[in-house]
Amino acid sequence: MGIMRFAPTMLRQLFEKPVTKNYPAEPINYPEGSRGHIDIDIQQCISCGACMINCPPGAITVDRKNKTWTINRFDCVQCGYCTRVCPKKCLYLNPGYQTPGPEKVTYSQTHIMTEAEKQKEAELAAKRAAAIKAAQAKKD
Ligand code: SF4
Ligand code: SF4
Repeated sequence: MGIMRFAPTMLRQLFEKPVTKNYPAEPINYPEGSRGHIDIDIQQCISCGACMINCPPGAITVDRKNKTWTINRFDCVQCGYCTRVCPKKCLYLNPGYQTPGPEKVTYSQTHIMTEAEKQKEAELAAKRAAAIKAAQAKKD
């Protein structure tokens, strides 16, 4: 008796397409608003460190000296807070996930300095050195 109740559903499902996808052979269209993973437009990054300071689980490391931005994706909880605090708006949540792999690896990007940036940095360093020298001369 019970089987008769389910017979129409069973018959219908014999001819319906599966609801699952043949991933990864078949690409997935992520729904709008999917959080996926954090990505960076590294050339816009000014290595201010705001994302590193504000990331709740401490997933981001910013090396100011070497202009490197690194994320440990296993620590990131996709809260999106870093995208909100970044003054350059160069962090964004990219739909989709990383390719699965056998090892826990961190993802790192390095800002390549343009000639103009190098010149600006050298000018700032010279100004700083001059200010220190002037302060020391005042002391003596
Ligand atoms: S999304 Fe959240 S957890 Fe992930 S790096 Fe940004 S602030 Fe950290
Ligand atoms: S907050 Fe933005 S600009 Fe600052 S270090 Fe992070 S990614 Fe770079």
